[in-house]
Amino acid sequence: MNCKSCEKEFEKLLLDATEAGRARPGVAEHLAACDACRGELSALRGTMELLDGWEVPEPSVYFDQKLAVLLREEQAKAPAGWLERLRERLLFNTGRQLRPALAGALVLAMILGGGSFAGFTAYQHSSAEVQASAAVNDLQILDKNDQAIQQMDQLLQDDGDGDPGVAAQPAS
Ligand SMILES: [Zn+2]
Repeated sequence: MNCKSCEKEFEKLLLDATEAGRARPGVAEHLAACDACRGELSALRGTMELLDGWEVPEPSVYFDQKLAVLLREEQAKAPAGWLERLRERLLFNTGRQLRPALAGALVLAMILGGGSFAGFTAYQHSSAEVQASAAVNDLQILDKNDQAIQQMDQLLQDDGDGDPGVAAQPAS
């Protein structure tokens, strides 16, 4: 037995007194022969004895009263500014509660991207073909954007049906 495999037996030796010595054959022999492992084990035993002697301190008799006062003070405080509230929301909320906001941002990004793409293709058509009036182009772009928004709404609704967290949010 070497020092490394001996150290693996320390846990058994320290935590389970009934297993001591016969955790694995050779442990006692190695401990008798190796000063380093014996010193390590006795240091760990000292730590365990210290922990055994440690008692959890009783809370002061005024603990409950002090806590109640602190709670009342916190409740009486003026509501935090929107920036502070946003920060707390981001810090303490789970990702699930932020999902509607993320979905909204994604939809906005896609609409903006789709809109500029539609505008680009409309411009290409008008330069290649007969010049259509600007109003017709604008209407075509609006129509494409409208379709994109409707598709997004449907996607969000489909997603929301199976998810009460999203469905509870008012659709805007
Ligand atoms: Zn050793």
